[in-house]
Amino acid sequence: MKKEFVVIGLGRFGGSIVRELVEQGMEVMAIDKFEDKVDEYSTIATHAVVADSTDEAALRSLGIRNFDHVIVAIGDDIQASILTTLMLKEIGVKRITVKAQNDYHEKVLERIGADKVVHPERDMGKRIAHNIVSNNVLDYLELSDEHSIVEIVANNLLIGNSIIELDIRAKYGINIVAIKRGDDIIVSPQANDVIRKDDILIVIGADNDINRFEKRVMQ
Ligand code: ATP
Repeated sequence: MKKEFVVIGLGRFGGSIVRELVEQGMEVMAIDKFEDKVDEYSTIATHAVVADSTDEAALRSLGIRNFDHVIVAIGDDIQASILTTLMLKEIGVKRITVKAQNDYHEKVLERIGADKVVHPERDMGKRIAHNIVSNNVLDYLELSDEHSIVEIVANNLLIGNSIIELDIRAKYGINIVAIKRGDDIIVSPQANDVIRKDDILIVIGADNDINRFEKRVMQ
């Protein structure tokens, strides 16, 4: 069965979530309080509706409780974002993801029971900073306050060495969990697997250890 989503707030963030979910074959109801935004998505989303999400009766009349997942993508109006999230909780929505504008907003959203809080500007800033510091770092994903996963293009210091020769685990305390090689992914590479040119390593570890590795090996 197709999963059914609601996206509230059709700015750049909410809008791109709508497009991507539809692309992945999901049913999406797109909501915004402004008609021009809703018009923009009327041919993209499964349904596009003008509604103010701080109006509980409006939310209930849309049958929002029956959807699998609601994404609150209201940006600047933090009060509306918090109020909407509270009402979605009260209505009994199964899963709520909310975009936070700042750390204070994020804390409040977590307190009132948002299942997931995303902070796209901050996270993207971190990812881009890692890529700027080292061109070899393709992507960076925060797992917790202290741990991350990074995607690193193998450089000359790595190419031609086996995992055991590099001994990254002992030297840096980080682990290569997979290697992307063309269209293949080698999951849990073995000690004698040799790193080749154009390999992309997926590395997991504590931020300090990853940073040390990026500075010493990936510059
Ligand atoms: P972007 O994702 O473009 O960075 P942003 O963070 O600047 O957006 P806003 O433009 O503040 O976010 O809000 C995103 C959308 O949410 C806007 O189109 C706005 O009309 C809509 N929105 C704000 N409040 C409500 C509300 N109470 N009900 C429905 N939609 C709302």
